[in-house]
Amino acid sequence: MKKAKRIVILGAGFGGLVSAILLAKKNHELEIVLIDKNSEHLYTPWLYDVATSFLVKPKNKEIALLKKVSAVSIKELIKMHGFKNLRFRQAEIQGVDVKTKHVLLKSGMTLAYDFLVVALGAKTTYYGIPGMEKFALPMKTLEDGMQVQERIGELVKEVIAGESGVKNIVIVGAGPTGTETAAELVNFFQASNRNGVKISEKIRVSLVDSAPRVLNFLDPYISQVATNRLKKLGVDLRTETAILKVQDKTVFTTNEEIPYDVLIWAGGIVPSEISKSIKLKKDNKGRIISRQTTQAEGADDVFVIGDCAGFYPAGNVQALPQTGWAAVDAGKVAVQNILSLTKGGELISYFPPRKHPVAVTVGGQFGVGSASHFKFSGYFAFVLRRLIDLRYFLTIMPALQAIKFWSKGTRTLMKND
Ligand SMILES: Cc1cc2nc3c(=O)[nH]c(=O)nc-3n(C[C@H](O)[C@H](O)[C@H](O)COP(=O)(O)OP(=O)(O)OC[C@H]3O[C@@H](n4cnc5c(N)ncnc54)[C@H](O)[C@@H]3O)c2cc1C
Repeated sequence: MKKAKRIVILGAGFGGLVSAILLAKKNHELEIVLIDKNSEHLYTPWLYDVATSFLVKPKNKEIALLKKVSAVSIKELIKMHGFKNLRFRQAEIQGVDVKTKHVLLKSGMTLAYDFLVVALGAKTTYYGIPGMEKFALPMKTLEDGMQVQERIGELVKEVIAGESGVKNIVIVGAGPTGTETAAELVNFFQASNRNGVKISEKIRVSLVDSAPRVLNFLDPYISQVATNRLKKLGVDLRTETAILKVQDKTVFTTNEEIPYDVLIWAGGIVPSEISKSIKLKKDNKGRIISRQTTQAEGADDVFVIGDCAGFYPAGNVQALPQTGWAAVDAGKVAVQNILSLTKGGELISYFPPRKHPVAVTVGGQFGVGSASHFKFSGYFAFVLRRLIDLRYFLTIMPALQAIKFWSKGTRTLMKND
């Protein structure tokens, strides 16, 4: 009997998980192995909600619920679909030998592949700002989100207990995560009055970025609406403010010194050491260069997608921004091309859509966003955001489970709104 071709997928984040599911659906003769160091798949767009939920006297069951609604067990997901040709292995990947076509795991085990999909994501970078890594809390993993939630919860507790003075939360990075976190916190503090203490009068939330405007990558109109909303809520907004260094309790910027009790880093990402170590051509940011077919340069049997890939759309000198949707779309192209290479057929190229629907919440049930050429703000944009969430769950789960997961998560995380 002919041996099934083995496709190994590294990383069960947005790109890797969607690729594994699509491959398993489309070809039952392939042996698909999905590897990730985590047993769960985190839906990162909800991380700000995790970090800002149940801040007043949280019960253990509420904390457990937060973890349950924002991440899904990868094994459970495979079970939901009933796949027999997709195997998940929880393991830390240590290296890839593209010459001998083997993946090396930290346990010492090696795994041969016929085709490889590299979807290893990226890690947080602090851009070498002295003290930032030591003092700031990152916002990348579920553990990060839970840690931020815990620290802000402690601050709220101190304020309710009657500690004197004003406490400061400083959030660095006014992209979607920083903006959403700042707005959600202030919105909640405004509405919270405990033991006669109005929390918004006792905790100040500052949002700092060196860019001239919040949500700098979005349309200027959307950015302006978000700015107005943040100011109206009472966020202390400091754009065009570069951070020079951080010490215990103080952020030093080009303009001034800002005191903090909790410092949150919602800044940048860089490729992880592991994807940098793979002997494939990289761009100047250390990302593995992806051809239009999503194959790595010089390796027809290796596909590279998502945050670890440097994908330059045809005729462009700028790489595609690293987003969940870019990882998913590139994954779909990689799957199609793997099927073509195993069964025969033409390779296709990845043409990123010019405008994916995008929506960012800015406190409670208020959002800003765009779809096609239309721009939205207010409740409608908030609903658009929730629909984008649902669309993702429908991509990775059977319809009924997706709707259940989405509605439970939405209900839980909206309790603060
Ligand atoms: C807080 C936050 C909010 C975001 N919000 C949005 C949003 O609203 N919309 C949007 O489009 N994008 C958003 N993003 C970006 C989006 O999450 C990423 O672009 C997307 O996750 C990239 O997908 P990926 O498959 O390349 O990598 P990831 O999803 O990061 O997956 C990489 C996987 O590889 C695994 N891995 C890494 N190294 C190893 C190793 N050595 N061994 C084993 N496993 C390993 C990791 O555990 C992880 O599961 C957000 C990101 C963050 C952090």
